[in-house]
Amino acid sequence: MARLAAELCAIAPDRWTAPFWAALIEHRLLIARCGVCGALRMPPGPFCGSCSAQPIAWDEVRGTGRVHTFTITRRAFHSALREHVPYVVAVIDLDDANGARLIGNVVGVDPERVAIGMEVRVDWDDVDETTTIARWVPAC
Ligand SMILES: [Zn+2]
Repeated sequence: MARLAAELCAIAPDRWTAPFWAALIEHRLLIARCGVCGALRMPPGPFCGSCSAQPIAWDEVRGTGRVHTFTITRRAFHSALREHVPYVVAVIDLDDANGARLIGNVVGVDPERVAIGMEVRVDWDDVDETTTIARWVPAC
């Protein structure tokens, strides 16, 4: 899959998500957990769903996982995506993130070959100097 155009990446980090997006620019993947009770907080927000605390702690993960589920998009919902179809949008179970899942494209493989359980690793799409997107490629 070609790199996404910057106009398609309208990322708007806030104080709760900014560390995640900043780490992506450095090609690091962070997962949020509650800074008080340790519960998973992905996506990160102002209050912990378990204890209502606000502090967030960030853990760096390796960026490996497996396809939990996926869909193949065959019709571009925006004219700028015409050159990208068909493409895969998947939910990735991260290997070392205590159950955290991320959504992203699986690239570098024929969409028809993507399967639930496929091992993947993160791949960095440096859209521009302020935006990097995590996407996924087959691990082997
Ligand atoms: Zn908590």
